[in-house]
Amino acid sequence: MLQVSALDLFYGDAQALAGVSLDIAAGEIVAIVGANGAGKSSLIRAIHGIETPARGTVRFDGTDITGWPSYRVCETGIGHVAEGRQVFPNLTVLENLEMGAVLKRARAAEKATLERVLAMFPRLAERRKQSAGTLSGGEQQMLAIGRCLMGQPRLIMFDEPSLGLAPAIVQEMFRIIRGLNEEGLTILLVEQNVMASLRIAHRGYVLENGRIELQGAGSELLSNDRVRQAYLGL
Ligand code: ATP
Repeated sequence: MLQVSALDLFYGDAQALAGVSLDIAAGEIVAIVGANGAGKSSLIRAIHGIETPARGTVRFDGTDITGWPSYRVCETGIGHVAEGRQVFPNLTVLENLEMGAVLKRARAAEKATLERVLAMFPRLAERRKQSAGTLSGGEQQMLAIGRCLMGQPRLIMFDEPSLGLAPAIVQEMFRIIRGLNEEGLTILLVEQNVMASLRIAHRGYVLENGRIELQGAGSELLSNDRVRQAYLGL
């Protein structure tokens, strides 16, 4: 479904991604794990057209989308739940969700999708008239996911969805991601929480200093000595 080939990305002279290649088949959960500054967000941003790679290609369903502006990438069915949630704090929960349905691909089904999202997240339904800035961190993360779902994505890229959340909410977040996958959504999950993300991922890639250093099944990576020493402290 998604095929990234030999991607190079620079910020000025600094290289953030070097020859990054990965692929995701429909129905998979694929995790990209790595330390702070490894290039995980840069990779998502390059796929999403927020950053422009110097070299390499991004293909979605066989179409070369490299360098497309973000709104066009979204229209293909790629959703992005950004790091730090990025909800509109002064808009209500409902208004935030409606913003997610501005995509052409999502407009016709907006009402039905809204009902589905509110049923999936009862806390959001209860707080639909409240401004998003008054929600807890976990509720804002759910709102960010709900807003993304309003755009009818087929692939969702999550950037550090567990960051800054209490442990119980982190577990809930991973349960939600797994549930979305079981409903048929394909997931690219970028995380510093290596253990939890490799546990739910079918496959994973380890990104270090802008390069893919290891790849394999989630369970394989969890038992890899290098991963255990560098990321799990075992
Ligand atoms: P984190 O978990 O901290 O977000 P990350 O793995 O997502 O880390 P990136 O945010 O992609 O890593 O950063 C990769 C490298 O690119 C880092 O060295 C970072 O300092 C640098 N970088 C990221 N964004 C920019 C930018 N807008 N301008 C210049 N350098 C940047």
